[in-house]
Amino acid sequence: MGKALIIGAGGVAGVAAHKCCQNSEVFEEICIASRTKSKCDALKAALDGGKTKVQTAQVDADNTAELIALINRFKPDIVMNLALPYQDLTIMDACLATKTNYMDTANYEPPDTAKFEYKWQWAYRKRFEDAGITALLGSGFDPGVTGVFSAYAQKHHFDKINFIDILDANGGDHGYPFATNFNPEINIREVTANGSYWENGVWVETAPMQIKREYDFEGIGKRDMYLLHHEELESLAQNIKGIKRIRFFMTFGQSYLTHLRCLQNVGMTSIEPIEFEGKKIVPLQFLKAVLPDPASLGPRTVGKTNIGCIFQGVKDGKNKNYYLYNICDHQECYKEVGSQAISYTTGVPAMIGAMMLMTGKWCRPGVYNVEEFDPDPFMDALNKWGLPWQESFSPVLVD
Ligand code: NDP
Repeated sequence: MGKALIIGAGGVAGVAAHKCCQNSEVFEEICIASRTKSKCDALKAALDGGKTKVQTAQVDADNTAELIALINRFKPDIVMNLALPYQDLTIMDACLATKTNYMDTANYEPPDTAKFEYKWQWAYRKRFEDAGITALLGSGFDPGVTGVFSAYAQKHHFDKINFIDILDANGGDHGYPFATNFNPEINIREVTANGSYWENGVWVETAPMQIKREYDFEGIGKRDMYLLHHEELESLAQNIKGIKRIRFFMTFGQSYLTHLRCLQNVGMTSIEPIEFEGKKIVPLQFLKAVLPDPASLGPRTVGKTNIGCIFQGVKDGKNKNYYLYNICDHQECYKEVGSQAISYTTGVPAMIGAMMLMTGKWCRPGVYNVEEFDPDPFMDALNKWGLPWQESFSPVLVD
């Protein structure tokens, strides 16, 4: 059917590349391009054998001219941005210049302010419309599947959704005292930021980790979870009409929190550059360099993830509760694609999102979040491609 250019060769890109190769009818050819070409070549070596043709390239995705040259050489139908949020805008610029469809899994964040928001990417709407190309934003798990779950609940189960609670539980154990399951810099920026939730049309801000709840997750057991700001809150607050409250909770173990507090206390999570032996370094970037690479956690991580959304609303004049979730096993993922479940639960929806665009199911010129499209083909694809979902009509609610 077509060609996809994958930017990035980390944990998420690795899974997405495996999944594209499993789906060779849609992905006839892929090119994996990243800053460090040796990582792309190592990934290609792990993939070869399928029907999908794989090539690799070196690209600095902060440089739009380099991206344009690569796109013009490879001529993809879509660019899958699986690098870091800092590259979203340069890659979107290159897609506009070459009239190529775009997708990503995380919204833009300026490197010097730890504040992620959709406003920078939503500002491209008119230009993408005029160019006749689609940008699909946030097609990972959260954001991503959580948005598709919301659109599905809205379409099939509710006349009106009043409350959404997104619960993200990772029951995985990698045996390290401290490591992050995806890019450490992005992960730590996210969890050390203030929390917030949307209620009655306004944002309510909290201190980091201020709101804590306990929840008993199927497949994992009881875990403490904390309210965080998360990017899909911003788009769902707009796209699920009349929503009264939407919150996001993520589980963290005590060891993770204790280490994080200590690292914060000594200044290691700061993004302010400091002078060190005549060179400017950013403490958080130095910390990333000494922490385990998330892509290396696969063989050591055991346990499951459970991520989903609890909806409360009204159907046919009656109150209704509904829980949609996926349980994913770290070791099963490792056996299949050589990666732990966090990269897997992001890389699979990335492939599916690209497939939605390449097959024309979700094509509409402009810039869109996943919940703005028909959820049904995506929900079917989740069952087929490794992330089967489950539902409950009497979930325990979060107070
Ligand atoms: P990794 O750090 O493992 O991989 C990032 C990749 O991007 C690396 O190959 C890196 O190359 C490459 N890269 C970084 N900067 C550039 C650049 N300027 N030019 C070209 N390539 C570059 O991250 P993950 O795979 O864990 O995460 C990837 C993305 O997925 C992130 O944006 C993250 O926020 C998002 N994510 C989304 C989730 C969701 O559910 N929606 C969940 C988890 C992650 P190099 O090795 O040379 O630095």
